Order: sequence, then structure tokens, then C-alpha cells
Amino acid sequence: MGKSILCACEDVTRAEVRRAIREGVRDVESLKRLTGFGTGPCQGKSCLALVLRELAAAGVAPEDLVPFTARPPVTPIALGALAAVEPEALSLDPGVPREKPVHVHVHVHVDDHDHDHVRGAGHAASLPPLPARADVVIVGGGIMGLALAYELGRRGVTDVLVLERDALATGASGRNGGGVRAQWGTPTLIRLGRRSLELCARLSVDLGVNVWFRRGGYLFLAPTRVEAARLEAYAALHEREGLRTRVLGRDEALELVPELERGQFVSASWNPDDGVVFPWPFLWGYAARAEAQGAYVATFTRVTGFDVAGPRVTAVRTDRGRVACETVVVACGAWSREVAALAGVALPTRPVRHEILATEPLKPWLGPLVALLGTGLYLSQTQRGELVGGMGDPAEPAGTGQGSTLRFLARFARRATALLPRLAGVKVTRQWAGLYDVSPDGQPILGPAGFENFLQLCGFGGHGFMMAPAVAEAYADLIAGRGRDEIFDRYALERLARGNGTKEDFVIG
Ligand SMILES: Cc1cc2nc3c(=O)[nH]c(=O)nc-3n(C[C@H](O)[C@H](O)[C@H](O)COP(=O)(O)OP(=O)(O)OC[C@H]3O[C@@H](n4cnc5c(N)ncnc54)[C@H](O)[C@@H]3O)c2cc1C
Repeated sequence: MGKSILCACEDVTRAEVRRAIREGVRDVESLKRLTGFGTGPCQGKSCLALVLRELAAAGVAPEDLVPFTARPPVTPIALGALAAVEPEALSLDPGVPREKPVHVHVHVHVDDHDHDHVRGAGHAASLPPLPARADVVIVGGGIMGLALAYELGRRGVTDVLVLERDALATGASGRNGGGVRAQWGTPTLIRLGRRSLELCARLSVDLGVNVWFRRGGYLFLAPTRVEAARLEAYAALHEREGLRTRVLGRDEALELVPELERGQFVSASWNPDDGVVFPWPFLWGYAARAEAQGAYVATFTRVTGFDVAGPRVTAVRTDRGRVACETVVVACGAWSREVAALAGVALPTRPVRHEILATEPLKPWLGPLVALLGTGLYLSQTQRGELVGGMGDPAEPAGTGQGSTLRFLARFARRATALLPRLAGVKVTRQWAGLYDVSPDGQPILGPAGFENFLQLCGFGGHGFMMAPAVAEAYADLIAGRGRDEIFDRYALERLARGNGTKEDFVIG
């Protein structure tokens, strides 16, 4: 049979798109995240119309044919050119959305600022009814919620309902850098990171999807003697915990990445076992396996409230009806605070935007994920060849806006080209942003809050993706009555009220 290509940039075939539609995918954002169409240098200019035509042919109503959110820049632009822009004069406010949907007669809104998508009138109403009850209702279909649903199924807890208000991979789990590391600053996070790395190495087989796991290590660069001393202390801890972390002098670091500018750092630490993944397939893999085990993953289903009686939550209310339940897990990432508040529970977390970009694909050259301590800069090369890099902005206020800024491009380009001058000629093809879910001590919040069966799974800041596989195992053990990991004491909400938080400061971003 001939191979008919719909997306030439990412080599996505008509057959792949048709298979996804046959399996029930009915919207463009989901098709993009499942097949990868529209994510290459041309940003869907040729393939979007073809995919919309496939959906229309499959019977999707015209008002539901909404294009995906377009990502800036409008045309690929070299990091060297962006580095010439003065960032400090630029605003953190992304301004108005850059692209509008083409169906102006339909009431749709693809502003990425508040994430309040309406994907065509009556979508929730057109879906089949939810079950009247479920043993476990997980609110939020990001990596946390889906990994938990999968691990519960593996332990025989199969009456599980995952409620996700949007398409899969639209929260932070679909917007992150895919870094997975065991180099952490506390024994607990080292253990969780190492366990996730072990799981990543076999999840392609277990989940039946390619998660594009590539182990090039994390190379942390210390720009000053103070940072170098921190790296040495961490490396000593890592040695005690059995990691293969090594402190490297400049020359050794340059052997790993010869293109580094030697004046930009004094020493480095490297654990060859750390790596990167491509986040999207994880979510589809976890969701498909969880469903094969009996769970129901209900997308486009928004939780609107909770029914409570005494010390327990008795039901979850949604825009598709009410579901009675035994246990609720709130795994809504940066929206956990507002979802918990629907039950009158106050979480001390705050959402903070984090911007990130991807470049044109390059031949493989960058082995490790490189992070420059003290600046928030990190970048890695994916198995698809593109560079993915981000950089936190200390001026970023709390808020749920997810728009993109030129300020980020300019700040990132300056730092990245100073560290790796060869990047000056590399073109940025897309930028986007997601939300860090930040707790007061930078550690997660786990276990019950407010009600005995109202469990929290949030507060992972910029490292929740890599923690999810390991944390989901421990959480599923807890719910299935198979044991209680120490993380449920260490990361209980009460620690923050008691002032017992221990700040994790080996963070990036
Ligand atoms: C730019 C960026 C880069 C990052 N890089 C890394 C990295 O390299 N490595 C790493 O480990 N981590 C990284 N992170 C952090 C990581 O992405 C998050 O910690 C992780 O994805 C959180 O997963 P989650 O499932 O808790 O949240 P999310 O993925 O945000 O999922 C929460 C879900 O809840 C849904 N929801 C919200 N409200 C409701 C409601 N009322 N009803 C139903 N559903 C609702 C949302 O739609 C969303 O899909 C990064 C984050 C960002 C933003």
C-alpha cells in the first residue's frame, strides 16, 4: 500500500491519522499530540487543512473543527538574531493571542492565556454519560493522574475514573522539557528520580508506545566557585546514595560537550544515567494501558464541585453529571489549588508560568541535558533531533496565563549563545509555555487534605514529570492498602502549617 503523507515535516501518514480517528480521537489538539502532526518547522501550514478534512469526513461537526493553538514565532528565527534583542525592555505580558481560529462564526476561544477552552458548542453534552459511581475518581488527566490510574490497575484497583477537562497533554505534562534525573539534593528525591529512570527504561515495552527515552546524562554547570561547592556537596550525597555522579573539571566537561564556552563555568557534575523523554507518548501510553485494565479516562469533562458529608467527600460533580465515589485524588497540577477550593480546602500552592522553546532538528551532537546553575537555563537534544530548552524568569509573577513572550526568546538566546556559541545559527521553530505548580518549600503535597478520602497529588514545581512514574507506584500502593511510603509523611500538607518543610534547592528553571 502506498504511503500517503499528511505532515511532511514530521512524517505523519494519512493512515496514522485515520487510525487515531477510528480509535475515537475527534479533535485537532488531541490528534496533534497523538501523531505529532503540525509540530515541525512549517507549523501545520500544509497539514492542518488535510487533518481537518479527515475529521470532517469522519463526521465531526463543522463547529468542532477547531485548529490547534498556533505557536510563535511565525517563521523560524535564529538564536543569534534573538540574542541581539535587549530583553530587559521587553514585557512579561504576552499581549493579545497571535492567532485566531478560522471558524469565526463558531463560539470558540483558543486564547492560551487562561486555558479556558471551549471546543465547539455542546461538546460535553454530546459525550456518553459518566458512570454513576467509581471507587476512585482522579481529577486531572496529566502524567500524575494517568500514571496513578495505570498503577492502580496493576494492583487490581480497576474501578477508576479519570476526569480531564481538556484533551490529553494540554496541561504541564504536555508542555515540559522531558528531563528525568536522579541528581537531586535529598535522599528521598534521589530515590524517586532513580526509580523513575528505571521505569522509563522499560515503559516503552510496558506501555506499548515509544517514549523516546535517551540517556545522555544531566550535565550541571557551576558558573561560580559557590555553585561549584554546592555541586561537590551534592555529588558526595549522590555517591552515598549509590549514583554514578562525577564532579568534572572544565576539560572533562568539554570532552562531553566540546562546544561549551569554557569561560562560562568553573566545574560541572554529570550523572550518565539521567536522561530525556518525549512527554506526549507517555500520556497516551498510560491512558491506553489504564483503560485496558478497566479504568475510564474521560476527556473534555470538567470537575465543577464536590458533595461532602462529615469527614468524607461522597461525590464529584462535573459538567457531565455527578459521580459517587469512595476516594478522590486531586491531580490537577497548577489548577489543584482551585479544584481543591471547590471542596473548601485551601492549598498553599501557586501557579507560575515557565516558557520553553524548540529548534529545528539537528544531527545528534548534544549528549547530555545541559543546565547552567544560577541562571535557570537548560537545554537538551531530543531523539527527534530538535533542541528543547527553557529558562525561568525571576520577574515572573504567579498566575495561570500561558502566553509566550519575545522577552523569553531574547533572554534564552543571550544565555544559550553565550554558553554554546554554535547555537547562534540554530533556528527556533516554536515556543510555548506551561505552568509550574509551586509549593512554599518546592516539595510536593501528598495525602489527604480537609477530608479523609480527599487525596492530593500536586506541588511538583518543575519536576513532576520525572517524579510521576515512581510517585504513582507509591500512591497506588497506599490506595490499594499495600503499604505506606515515607513520602506520605514527609510531604503531608500539615508539614507546611507546622513550618516543617525542607527546601529543595537543587532545582532548575
Ligand atoms: C515548560 C515546563 C518545563 C518543564 N520541564 C520539566 C522537566 O524537564 N522534567 C520534569 O520532570 N518536569 C518538568 N516540568 C514540570 C512537569 O511538567 C509537571 O510537574 C507535571 O507535568 C505535572 O503533572 P500533573 O499531572 O500534576 O499536571 P498537569 O499535566 O498540568 O495536569 C493537570 C490536569 O488537570 C486538568 N484540570 C484542571 N482543572 C480541572 C478540572 N476542574 N476538571 C478536570 N480536569 C482539570 C488540566 O486540564 C490538566 O490536564 C516542566 C513544566 C513546564 C511548564
